[in-house]
Amino acid sequence: MKYRTIPVTPFQQNCTLVWCEHTKKAAIVDPGGDLDQILAAVEEEGVLVEKIMLTHAHIDHAGGTAELSAKNSLPIEGPHKGDLFWIEGMSQQCSMFNFPHCDSFTPDRWLDDGDEVKVGDGVFQVIHCPGHTPGHVVFYNEKDQMALVGDVIFHGSIGRTDFPKGNHQELIDSIKMKLFPLGESVEFIPGHGPRSTLGVEIKSNPYVR
Ligand SMILES: [Zn+2]
Ligand SMILES: [Zn+2]
Repeated sequence: MKYRTIPVTPFQQNCTLVWCEHTKKAAIVDPGGDLDQILAAVEEEGVLVEKIMLTHAHIDHAGGTAELSAKNSLPIEGPHKGDLFWIEGMSQQCSMFNFPHCDSFTPDRWLDDGDEVKVGDGVFQVIHCPGHTPGHVVFYNEKDQMALVGDVIFHGSIGRTDFPKGNHQELIDSIKMKLFPLGESVEFIPGHGPRSTLGVEIKSNPYVR
């Protein structure tokens, strides 16, 4: 699969366009906003977007979902049901973070640990990683050794847990018991900042050593 990151919103959230080279079928992961930029990337790559995938329902990741889904008739897969309260509170999130108004939405498919999400010939394994939010999921492509981890872990840092229903210990457990066992060579695209590998974080991330 191919992966192209498009930083969106004032939070510079890494919306990621993923696509299968064989079929050109694509998914947009975490369309937080700036839909013009996202759709420009889609056109540049000449791919056929068939779904929206969400790691979690914070506004910088999910704020553009309702509009993108409605305008382009795209089904929404994810996050885990634990993030329903964040989705229902989308307009409060807008005022809380000074975003332009965005609508709430209903995912076509809630995801659970062990589920699979297909994009063309590619398959992502769903790993439920609560802590930053209760319904946070990670999308892992074993063949590519690539994970889209949202705000679970960053290069040199980890997700915040001071939001409602955040849980620091749960986040640490998610990282150590569910992500690190995938292997040191696995590369990841975080919700913010540069790519890294699990091996680099196992060795040097001060929050999970
Ligand atoms: Zn977040
Ligand atoms: Zn974020």
